[in-house]
Amino acid sequence: MSAVLSIDNWKSEADRLSFRTEAFIGGKYVAAASGKTFDRINPANGKVLAQVAACDKEDVDRAVKAARAAFDKGAWSRRAPSDRKKVMLKFADLIEKHTTELALLETLDMGKPIRDSSKIDVPGSVNCIRWYAEAIDKVYDEIAPTGPEAVSLIRREPVGVVAAVVPWNFPLMMASWKIGPALATGNSVILKPAEQSPLSAIRIAELAAEAGIPEGVFNVLPGFGETAGQALGRHNDVDCITFTGSAEVGKYFLKYSGESNMKRVSLECGGKTPNIIMADCPDLDAAATAAAWGIFFNQGEVCNAGSRLIVEESIKDEVVEKIKAVGRKLQPGDPLDPKTGMGAIVDKTQLDRVLGYIDTGKKEGAKVVFGGARVRAETGGYYVEPTIFDDVDNKMTIAQEEIFGPVLSTITFTDPEEAVRIGNDSIYGLAAAVWTRDITKALKAARRLRAGVVWVNCFDNGHISSPFGGFKQSGFGRDKSLHAMDKYTELKATWIHIGN
Ligand code: NAD
Repeated sequence: MSAVLSIDNWKSEADRLSFRTEAFIGGKYVAAASGKTFDRINPANGKVLAQVAACDKEDVDRAVKAARAAFDKGAWSRRAPSDRKKVMLKFADLIEKHTTELALLETLDMGKPIRDSSKIDVPGSVNCIRWYAEAIDKVYDEIAPTGPEAVSLIRREPVGVVAAVVPWNFPLMMASWKIGPALATGNSVILKPAEQSPLSAIRIAELAAEAGIPEGVFNVLPGFGETAGQALGRHNDVDCITFTGSAEVGKYFLKYSGESNMKRVSLECGGKTPNIIMADCPDLDAAATAAAWGIFFNQGEVCNAGSRLIVEESIKDEVVEKIKAVGRKLQPGDPLDPKTGMGAIVDKTQLDRVLGYIDTGKKEGAKVVFGGARVRAETGGYYVEPTIFDDVDNKMTIAQEEIFGPVLSTITFTDPEEAVRIGNDSIYGLAAAVWTRDITKALKAARRLRAGVVWVNCFDNGHISSPFGGFKQSGFGRDKSLHAMDKYTELKATWIHIGN
């Protein structure tokens, strides 16, 4: 099992790895119609890993045709839920069986620590697909209380061809949050991974086929956002876009939909999560540790990263010192070393973006009190130290814009109302947290914070049964839980007249 491998084991496993690099359309691996490819760079060392098919409009047309044909044929869409369940459980088992390989693909492709990809990303993806497989033969349809003259059967039907466009920070897990409920409910799916992290998505396509998912039901199109992503968004025969990524691109999908077939769109976008620590916090060590992991985990490349530490003035220095202590142990290292807690930033563009925000923070008058620099440049990779800013005003750029890097902004308050006001002063509303031993204060804050999830006395906890998604410009629609199935189903009422 992956858990016992050393850095040398992981390195030799990586050397033995071969990459699937083509699109998967209609049950087969195929090159892009144009023959074009793009380089995948390993962010740990800046070296080329693989050349991957650069899909474009023509490939999107092919994939949509295959997906539509499979949907109309009904081998999946009209199959008994209990049969879909068996196939999806096998799919989850196969992903689990290939944990080592898939964890390596994630780590090599986007730089996250192997410890996380093998213990969080791949197991989390398996759990998600299993959960929807297990759920699908347990959800019932409805009969409306219309009265004695009629029976109205309210059925959920698959929406049709679903295109899932996903980001690079948790490539397999974000894909699973979409394909789990979309496949379970009987749709045909086209998955477009981010151009920074296509390898695991391409590989699981053949595992899906091996599990028995019929050809055309699950397709994978690697390629760029402006080309493959846009073509999916504008396609007249795609019924649903399920998107996770930046708010900027989320807005494009709304436009694409309006300018094409009015396809339904659900958006899981960015965040600027306020992590509010009050002076009566029940356990400051736990709060500071959670605050540190909440911003430094996955190099800070987390949509709900606790990037705004909103801390009561009287305990600020103590909390910041404790966060620094965790940060010291979390210095970036080789992602293939199982001891590494923080890996490489996904690519050079993102590295420059993060460093650019650190400069902006300094220019706007905030003070770097920990970290703040690129490190390990000699490896050729893209690493940034865990970074803490103090003296941040919530109006500053670093407190308003999503940095998507290991950069924490510390903001102080003196009364709980002010903390909630600062917390809500953001275009985003993905998540929030509040630490206090006073249940009344906690519940009041939780009700007033405009966010899809509010953690009380913890940070970033979750379960597949609990919905995840945002308010405001963090998007709409929910991943995880049975509520996710709403995105992939149409409600149909069949009205049967039984009166005279
Ligand atoms: P991104 O928006 O740049 O890209 C996301 C996806 O959209 C990729 O597949 C990309 O190829 C595609 N895309 C890019 N430009 C496009 C265009 N013009 N037309 C169509 N498709 C296009 O985001 P990213 O940099 O990959 O990921 C980081 C973002 O994702 C952050 O904002 C983060 O907060 C967000 N995110 C949100 C959640 C959530 O659940 N809310 C989870 C993870 C990441």
